[in-house]
Amino acid sequence: MEGAYVFMKTIIVGGGLAGLSAAVTLASEGVETVLYEKSSHFGGKMKSVDMEGFHFDFGPNTITMPYVFENVLRKGGMGGSLSYQKLSTHTRNQFPDGTVFDLSSDRDVMIRQLNRIDEKGARRYDRFSEAISKLFDTSYSSFLTRVFTGKNDYFSASLLTSTMQVRPMQSMSSFYRRYFSSPHVLDALNRYATYVGSDPYRAPATFAMIAYLELMEGVYYVRGGNTKIAETMVQAAENCGASLHKNREVVSLLKKGKRIEGVVLEDGEKVKADNIIINGDLAHTLPSLLEEEQPEYDPSISAFVILAGIDGTLPLHHHHLFFSADYKKEFSELRSGKYPEDPTIYIATSRKSDPSISPGGDNCFIMVNAPPGKSADKEEYKQVIYNKLENSGIHLSEKILFEQIWTSFDIEKEFSSFQGALYGPSVNNRKQAFLRPRNKSDRFDNLYFAGGSTHPGGGSPIVTLSGQNVANYLLNKIVN
Ligand SMILES: Cc1cc2nc3c(=O)[nH]c(=O)nc-3n(C[C@H](O)[C@H](O)[C@H](O)COP(=O)(O)OP(=O)(O)OC[C@H]3O[C@@H](n4cnc5c(N)ncnc54)[C@H](O)[C@@H]3O)c2cc1C
Repeated sequence: MEGAYVFMKTIIVGGGLAGLSAAVTLASEGVETVLYEKSSHFGGKMKSVDMEGFHFDFGPNTITMPYVFENVLRKGGMGGSLSYQKLSTHTRNQFPDGTVFDLSSDRDVMIRQLNRIDEKGARRYDRFSEAISKLFDTSYSSFLTRVFTGKNDYFSASLLTSTMQVRPMQSMSSFYRRYFSSPHVLDALNRYATYVGSDPYRAPATFAMIAYLELMEGVYYVRGGNTKIAETMVQAAENCGASLHKNREVVSLLKKGKRIEGVVLEDGEKVKADNIIINGDLAHTLPSLLEEEQPEYDPSISAFVILAGIDGTLPLHHHHLFFSADYKKEFSELRSGKYPEDPTIYIATSRKSDPSISPGGDNCFIMVNAPPGKSADKEEYKQVIYNKLENSGIHLSEKILFEQIWTSFDIEKEFSSFQGALYGPSVNNRKQAFLRPRNKSDRFDNLYFAGGSTHPGGGSPIVTLSGQNVANYLLNKIVN
């Protein structure tokens, strides 16, 4: 842990996965690292809710790229301490006409099912696999593992070449139509746009690389709950000597010319540092900390979430979807700020893979897409969801022992995320997809940004990369 950076001090504002990952990376190289988190838990949107004998992973239920977390944990002596369970046939997609189509990282399972509902798709599956693998490889090396610090970074010749290789001009949905024709297969794949909080009919095909992660690499679950990732990252950071503080909100930054000298905490305490990294959502934190204008962006979608503790068990898969009859209409409703009338319902029940997590009964995390910045009548909209589930054969209403409902307002309040957006800015247009807010301030020489609202984007492994990339840049390990 002795390093050349021992005299440099960094303050991190926010203890989400990006902040924690930056803390481990810096502290493991001997940087004096202090992290302030305003809430009473570390992990940000990766939050556990433990109520009446039920455990829920509030945020990330679908885990991909475990090696990203492991790379960070290893630096803090915690590599190998999480038990990842690969869910080979991981997601059941159920449609109103009774069709069931499972997503799997097992090619044979995919081909067998495609032969049943999309013969052309079965014949083209290998070509599709090759195309999404290429999208991922280019994205990983050109976007996911680098930082963007200034305007010129976006316009380098090598980056422009890579950008053209990731199909920026085609929409995700039209990319899939080159390979598949079954509306059910298309709906199931189009849903990947929601993993970056966006609309598959507008988001660029680039983000079909998420299909690569789930269909080629696989979906994972961390035994004991995915929230163990954040808990273990805290341990890793502390092992390296980082100093982490909960319930400590940063209320302003100490500006001096082109530098930020330090931060001011809620109780008035001033703490100085050489570098500052902001992990909180930029549209929320920048205006309050810097009295700057709010960056203008179209936020990613939010969610209406019900945490339901069930008496016994329901006929559900670990990841189970009940699709809307008209997926396209759902996105046009969201676009016009409405809660979908016939929403696609996602239910994660981690007890199906890990009975010990919730011994009393199923721990259903029920989520539907919601327009950012708009609330709904909790009881009324819950009923829309429960009625649809009843019609799909999931009779849960009379079996609920515990229930907690979240709207986009609750998400905004709990995580200080702009309009309750789950993933920072959406990628619904090319500007937001490829020119996200940069990792370094234009105005201040020592102010950096990491997390879902900056590069490379949202989602638990991607923000972990974001924190690591910014830290590596400060350590001169990434030179753009
Ligand atoms: C309901 C839901 C479902 C999701 N599902 C998935 C999924 O299945 N898979 C997946 O990979 N991802 C999923 N995500 C997305 C994922 O959770 C996020 O992309 C990721 O956790 C964001 O991490 P972050 O570090 O960027 O920010 P955050 O987690 O938002 O952390 C930022 C932290 O900064 C703190 N903060 C803000 N301002 C201040 C201040 N002034 N002082 C001190 N602290 C401050 C906040 O309290 C917060 O803890 C989901 C998110 C949600 C909400």
